[in-house]
Amino acid sequence: MENLVRTHHCGELRLANLNEKVTVIGWVAKRRNLGSLLFLDLRDRYGIVQILIKTDEIEVPEIRNEYLLQVEGVVNKKDVPNKQLETGDIEIVASKINVINTSENPPIVIADETDASEDIRLKYRYLDLRRPIMQKRFITRAKIVKAAHEYLDAHDFIEVETPILTLSTPEGARDYLVPSRVHKGSFYALPQSPQLFKQLLMVSGFERYYQIAKCFRDEDLRADRQPDFTQIDIETSFLSEDEILTLTEGMIQKIYKDVINYDVKLPLRRIPYDVAVDEYGSDKPDTRFDMKLKSLKEVLKNNEADLFKLNKYIKAIKAENIADVTSRKVQDEYNLTANKFNMRSFIFVKYVNNELEGSVVKLLSEEEKKGLIDTLELKNNDLAIIAVSNIKKNVDFGLGAMRSLLAKKFNLIKPDTYDILWVVNFPLFEKSEETGEITPCHHPFTRPVDEDLDKLETEPYKVYSYSYDIVMNGYEAGGGSLRIYDQDVQKRIFKVLGFTEEDIRRKFGFFVDALKYGTPPHGGLAFGLDRLTMILSGTDNIRDVIAFPKNLSAVCPMSQAPKPVDEAQLKDLGIAVIEKE
Ligand code: ASP
Repeated sequence: MENLVRTHHCGELRLANLNEKVTVIGWVAKRRNLGSLLFLDLRDRYGIVQILIKTDEIEVPEIRNEYLLQVEGVVNKKDVPNKQLETGDIEIVASKINVINTSENPPIVIADETDASEDIRLKYRYLDLRRPIMQKRFITRAKIVKAAHEYLDAHDFIEVETPILTLSTPEGARDYLVPSRVHKGSFYALPQSPQLFKQLLMVSGFERYYQIAKCFRDEDLRADRQPDFTQIDIETSFLSEDEILTLTEGMIQKIYKDVINYDVKLPLRRIPYDVAVDEYGSDKPDTRFDMKLKSLKEVLKNNEADLFKLNKYIKAIKAENIADVTSRKVQDEYNLTANKFNMRSFIFVKYVNNELEGSVVKLLSEEEKKGLIDTLELKNNDLAIIAVSNIKKNVDFGLGAMRSLLAKKFNLIKPDTYDILWVVNFPLFEKSEETGEITPCHHPFTRPVDEDLDKLETEPYKVYSYSYDIVMNGYEAGGGSLRIYDQDVQKRIFKVLGFTEEDIRRKFGFFVDALKYGTPPHGGLAFGLDRLTMILSGTDNIRDVIAFPKNLSAVCPMSQAPKPVDEAQLKDLGIAVIEKE
């Protein structure tokens, strides 16, 4: 058995260690053979150090990339420092080399920059995770969790675990189901969040709960979504909305300070949902760039053209200085966004040499032209993108999507800037895109604002809620609400949502029952830990911050999960798989 002594980590050696005799252990990241001199980059969790081997002077075993070596030697000052490495002022002149383990030639380049496809990286994730940039992301993640633990602990929160095998918790996605062997034909659901349990813990009198909680949602995947993900889940009793937001802001401030040494200025801005949608075309606005939506309704109120007369909503954004690079082809590309929001196309108007250009310009009077230029404050070479529809949502969200697209395409956002705000006061309900039916904006336990209670059955879409989302750089990083603590209101909400008495009993009977026993007023929220880590480690891919994630088809390329199981296992569960036609 080798002696696995080491005196230092590879990444920690500096000029201060000059002439010290050291032993390090690490993987071979790079080799350069100059005949009698062999240079290695040796990598461990703490960084990379250069090893110099004088091949005539010591015994040199066979060394290949990713071999794990123990190297003994003396720290030497490099003639020409390597600026790329933190240890770049020094190198270790090896006196003894011990191969702890050999390695096959790795299928991916193990360095910050790798050209491997994501599926290959995920297939060999254990090697991908050796890349220093990946390790940094997981250190960031761990620091966030640590800061959250410290903050919540200091504020009297108690960490409680809730079950993974449970009943459905409605957060608007499909459930992952787990068949019961003991009760054939019955299924557990994996929790979409600990929502019901954390509320029950308030009924139990815990007062301040938190949990780093795994959640499971079967929904279409995107760059910022995974089937299983993690929340910093929080619930409190007796606090007002304002108190909950203030308490949470303190945690955000600590996380940003501890993790990236960034000072978040408090209090955070609070933008009502309606204003966010009206001005930014989004319920998670990125306000690091302006490009606000402006209504042209007033300017065009006398225009007789059908286009403007027959559409209730006419709004526009201004994209600065891009008229000349917005060809027909580019406009067609932008119109794909209009199509997504059920509009045939946007209307493009260019402002060039003090003139408006575009097919609609002939429909405008001189006064209207001036109104448009003034409202949007157009300057030479600006482009106005106008959306018209009778459905407000289409105009707003369509232009909001264009806003984001243009910001990305033209790099309108300064890197390393943080934009953190609350969007508050969401409507209680919305129309489901898929079914057209009424669904909760958050979840069915969100408390309607007191003044709107009488509209619950008659004008449900006009009812607002005590709810809030935390938005960071245009991502919904978390959200929550005050909860209903009155069983009658809870039942009314379920009824508006179309649940029968029998449904309510079957799905939420235990929960409605619990509300009968002196339930305290309560509320909370949950942060997406993965999204928070994405933002603080500067990636826009959620898979970069989850150690063993699924790909966009919900498959783990490494383990190949999900997979068919043995016939015997299915039989045990009383399940038969029907072949697809
Ligand atoms: N359970 C909610 C969610 O996962 C968060 C909350 O309301 O506390 O979005």
